[in-house]
Order: sequence, then structure tokens, then C-alpha cells
Amino acid sequence: MLPSTYSEPARDLRVASRADVVVVGGGPAGFSAAVAAARQGASVCLVERYPYLGGLASGGMVLVLDDMCAGAEITVRGLCGELVDRMRARGLAVYPPEEERGHDPAMFRKWSRWGLFDFNTHTRPHPICYAVAFDPDGWKRASDDMVQEAGIELRLHSLFAGSIVRDGRMAGVVVESKAGREAIMGDVVIDATGDLDVAASAGARFSEGAYMVTTVFRLGGVDTDEAERFQFEEPERHAVLDLEARRVIGGSWDYWWLKTPLPGIVWCNCPHMTGLDGMKVEDLTRAEFEGRRRIHAMVEHVRAKLPGFADCYVVDVAPQTGVRQTRMLDGEYVVTKEDVTRRVHFPDSVARGRDYYTPFRALLPRGIDQLLVAGRHYSATPQAQKISREIPPCMAMGEAAGIAAAMALSAGTAVRGIDVAELQRRLRAQGADPGDQPSATACVAEHAA
Ligand SMILES: Cc1cc2nc3c(=O)[nH]c(=O)nc-3n(C[C@H](O)[C@H](O)[C@H](O)COP(=O)(O)OP(=O)(O)OC[C@H]3O[C@@H](n4cnc5c(N)ncnc54)[C@H](O)[C@@H]3O)c2cc1C
Repeated sequence: MLPSTYSEPARDLRVASRADVVVVGGGPAGFSAAVAAARQGASVCLVERYPYLGGLASGGMVLVLDDMCAGAEITVRGLCGELVDRMRARGLAVYPPEEERGHDPAMFRKWSRWGLFDFNTHTRPHPICYAVAFDPDGWKRASDDMVQEAGIELRLHSLFAGSIVRDGRMAGVVVESKAGREAIMGDVVIDATGDLDVAASAGARFSEGAYMVTTVFRLGGVDTDEAERFQFEEPERHAVLDLEARRVIGGSWDYWWLKTPLPGIVWCNCPHMTGLDGMKVEDLTRAEFEGRRRIHAMVEHVRAKLPGFADCYVVDVAPQTGVRQTRMLDGEYVVTKEDVTRRVHFPDSVARGRDYYTPFRALLPRGIDQLLVAGRHYSATPQAQKISREIPPCMAMGEAAGIAAAMALSAGTAVRGIDVAELQRRLRAQGADPGDQPSATACVAEHAA
């Protein structure tokens, strides 16, 4: 019988780099953390396993930024807003102008197929709101520029493999690449892997959750004018044929296709598959096979049946599998679903989503120093994470974590000991909204820091 374990021999690793702040994961949260820390004067090394920045936003082809406004108020700004401006300057980001937001049915017809409506409201049709449709390569290029301008050492093609912890403090990380196994040393480490790889490897406590997994894809050759005409001018026939298409793909939101800044190219946030664990190679492999099978079955179906789709073809299936939830930090404070839905305000709020607040404590692991967590694996219950993990709030968390790391280094304190009021001031000074000022609808005076 084969032995069930293998003992790896100990060996010395080359130290490939040293930085004040090491950020692991170049997705929305990690990119923001790295830029924010570097702009505060810290030396930053950003480690990413794939050959591009963006995580699920670019490689996952999740092509709408939402959860960033409460009615007319824009609640996530800062680096997220800057990235949007840069993509828009290249014609690769689209959002409805202020005067076209709201409940006007004509505006719903104009904008809803971009996915730019507020699906958290109960009113139908949903109001058009501030949300942004963007192009995945637009994201990669704009974030490349921002990372380069900030003087960040970016190490792509580098898979995080283990945490280096000394006397209860993070001291660096081990990465694997074509160059082999190497160490990167840092004074503060930010885990932005989405799956809590770093904190879990360092021994932090976490909870485990699961949500549907999606192999997002894009279709080209779509006559979107005809598809929209059919939807709005023949609603009954459309309802029948669209439902048939959604049955073939087996799991999608109502709006299974959405327009992108590239004419004739739509992104499809489907098929949704359940019962898969985003941490298991076997399940991730199964998701890719099953996803592609369903995608091509649907393409054949809509080509034959759905007006606007007769000449459509698959442009690409997202290279990063659409995993929404795996490990979540069990940190100094665990955000609950009630905190999110009741809009509980925290005095140490450092980030906002649409109308909810994230306390600094939810980025802090217990028992390990000089480690911060930012992104979809922040300290929240699985139910809370499902409704508070969109790209903009993850970017807001990253921005806060990056500044917090730099502040701790310049003040010579532990990250958990930083002056949170000063962090809130710095976030405001650079155009972000840390949520330090509760809105009129917030539930205040609970969960004092
Ligand atoms: C199918 C789907 C649809 C969604 N729809 C929307 C939507 O419409 N709008 C919206 O705003 N949000 C949406 N979301 C949610 C959103 O995409 C994510 O929650 C968000 O991208 C999380 O950002 P993050 O930076 O925390 O993690 P990720 O985007 O997952 O980024 C993590 C990064 O870390 C890297 N990484 C991970 N492990 C390692 C390692 N071991 N070594 C090195 N690098 C590593 C990854 O490659 C990646 O770049 C959707 C998510 C999915 C899956």
C-alpha cells in the first residue's frame, strides 16, 4: 500500500525580496491595499499567482462594480473611483449619468441590460443606480499603471505557499514559482487571497462557508439592439424563451447576459453550480468541465431560439473560476448578517458597502501580529459575507488595510494598535469614505470598539 503522507526534507530558501509591506493576492482588495500602502511611503511587494492583476474582477470576468451607493449617495470612492476614471478615459467603463438614475422606465430600458440597477431594492423595476460596467483588459491596464506609478514591486506568476511566523508575528511568506520555492520577507503582511490562504497558514482561526460556483463566460456576435427590442417589445414571448434558455444553462440570475463596453460582446454570469468546495482541486476541476458543457449546450439553444443570438459564439470562459465563498477569518470582530441588513455603525468603521459598515477589527486576526486581512474572506459569518463581498467594498477594505499597515510601520506600533481615528482621517483625505460618519439610516451606538 502507498504511504498516506510524505515528509518533505527541510531546506534553506533564497530570500527573493524584502519589503515593509507584503500583499498576497492582486485582486480588487490586494491591488487597493498595495497602492494605498505605497502611496503612504511604504515599500510594497505585491504577490499574485496569475499573470495579471484583478482577481475575480478581470480573470473572473465579473464585469459590473456594484454595492457602492445608497440611493443617490456614492459610498465607495477612493481608489475604486480612481480606477473607474482611468478605465472610463479609455472608453472601457460605462455608468449611467446622475440624471438618468432612478425609477424612470425609459431609463430602465436604456440601462438595465448593462446590469446597472439596484437589485437590493424591493421595487420593480429596480431603480437605475451608480454601478459600473467595465472591460477586464481595461482593469488590467489601469491597475498596471497605478501599481507602476506607485513604485510597487509586483511579482506575478508567484503562488503563495506558506506563512513565515516568528514569535506570533508575521515575518514574511514563502512563494512557489518557476524559480522554485523562495521567501519574501516583510514587516506587515496583508492577506488578500480571497480564500484566507495566508492567515490560515499562519494559524489564524477561521470559519468555512460555501456558495454557488460559476464559470462566467462571454459571448460575441450578439445583436444586443435586437435582443433588447425583443425583451421590451415582446415581453410575453421573451419571458418564455428566456426562461427556456435559463433552464438549459441550469442556474442563473434573471438577467443572465449583460452588455459590456465592447459592442456585440456580452458577459454571462452563469451557470451557477452548487455543492462544490472552492478549496478542493477535484471540485474545481469538476466545475470547469460541467460549466463548459452547460455553456455550449446553452449557446446551441439560444442560437436556434433567442432573437439577437443567432450568430453568437463563445469568446472566452473566465480563467479564474467564480468562487464566491470559502474560508473566512474569525477575527477580532465577526460581522453578522444583522450588522449588514440593519446598517449597524461601528466607531472603528474603515470601509463601506452600499449602506453598511466594516469595522477595522474585522480585518484583524486574533493572536497573530502584523497581519491584516482584506477582501471577501474578511471576518464575517457566511450569511453576512454573501451580502457584503462585492468588488467595491473589498477595494475599500484593501485601501484601509494598506494605509493601516503603513501607519503602523511609520509609528513603530503593531497594526492592531494603530490610531483608527487617524486612519479614518487619512482615508477621507484621499477621497475614500471610511464610514466614520454614520448616515441617517445607520443603526448607531452598538458594538462599541
Ligand atoms: C461569479 C461571480 C459573480 C460575481 N458578481 C459580482 C458583481 O456583479 N459585482 C461585484 O461587485 N462583485 C461580484 N462578485 C464578487 C466579487 O467578484 C468578489 O467578492 C471580489 O472580487 C473579491 O475580491 P478579493 O480581492 O477579495 O478576491 P479575488 O477577486 O478572489 O482576488 C484574490 C486574488 O488573490 C490571488 N490569489 C489567491 N490565492 C493565491 C495564492 N495562494 N498565491 C498568490 N495569489 C493568490 C488570486 O489569483 C486573485 O488575484 C461576484 C463573484 C463571483 C464569483
